[in-house]
Amino acid sequence: MNDENYIEFLKSGISINSQLGCNIGCKYCIVGEFQKNIEKNYKPIDIIEKLKQHRFYNEKIPLIINNRSEPLVPFLRMDTVNFLRLLKENHFKNPKILISKLPFGTSDYDVLNQNNVFIFRTISGMPADIEPPSNPENRRKILLENDYLKEHTDVKLIHYWRPIVRNLNASEQILENIFSEIHSHFDGSVVSGIRVTPNIKKLLEKFGGDLSDWNGDTNHKFLPQDIWNNILNIKNKINPNYLLFRHTSCIISYLNKCSDYNLHYCKTKNLKYCEICPSYHRCLNFVKNINPNELNVFFKQLGKDFQYSVSDNQILIIHSPIYQEELSFLKMVLQYKISAQNIQKSGSEEMLSHV
Ligand code: SF4
Repeated sequence: MNDENYIEFLKSGISINSQLGCNIGCKYCIVGEFQKNIEKNYKPIDIIEKLKQHRFYNEKIPLIINNRSEPLVPFLRMDTVNFLRLLKENHFKNPKILISKLPFGTSDYDVLNQNNVFIFRTISGMPADIEPPSNPENRRKILLENDYLKEHTDVKLIHYWRPIVRNLNASEQILENIFSEIHSHFDGSVVSGIRVTPNIKKLLEKFGGDLSDWNGDTNHKFLPQDIWNNILNIKNKINPNYLLFRHTSCIISYLNKCSDYNLHYCKTKNLKYCEICPSYHRCLNFVKNINPNELNVFFKQLGKDFQYSVSDNQILIIHSPIYQEELSFLKMVLQYKISAQNIQKSGSEEMLSHV
């Protein structure tokens, strides 16, 4: 790890961190794979100052706070609160995201009373020897706190349903129990896959998990289609109006009344999720014509002079080599359909493929 990892552009936003590493010990966790030892601390104010100068900074892009660790673990909680306080005081418009398995655990709820704060809370029914915070007492605290936050703050509460692994927490009974327990305490759920690497597969198999249908792809999250279908059926049976999405950016965009800022609707493989989505018409009817002046502004921000052409149906085709994060940045800020012929992996993606 180096200083660049304290502010890093990810597919769903910019990750801002005062600390790297996590020692909670979830067995499937990619952060733990990267780094088990906690690294030095930066002050949130220094990270925010760096963020303002960062080449990927734009006020449309979500900021994901302390997700290179667990943002609400006691020794990091006040940094996370301070991040939120600074973002509030400095009137940042960006969606602000906390992804956590723990209760907020402090009475500093005022920092949540600002526009565009989303807390993603993991509840997956994973055995506690694989995911230590997955125990009934922690879950009870989270759900109780959610009810308080719903009433007293503007925060959006999203249930993060992951990881789901066959033989561990993917039976229909477990899925139905989880849904029944959570649906009245959240604004919606995101059913996300898990980033599997050979090491993580081995570890989860030791605990009895079945990842035999994983195809070895370390670049994309893995979730078997039949598990998603079961969850969808359970939702339709118990609470058909409940919001259920496959992608973080989709639920954030839906709640902000925008088309998906990550443009998942452009990929044919996602259309099966779009067809059942309340944003279907908003996303699929969204067309933006390519404006060379606007393009130049963001090429300049990236310090690049990409060679490109524009297809008849307004797809921007980038011919020069481009890093994955540069491509995601351009999609998010421009909302153009973009195709690139030579995509290079970012630093962390490159590390992942060697884990
Ligand atoms: S229509 Fe598709 S891309 Fe748009 S928010 Fe829904 S699932 Fe996401």
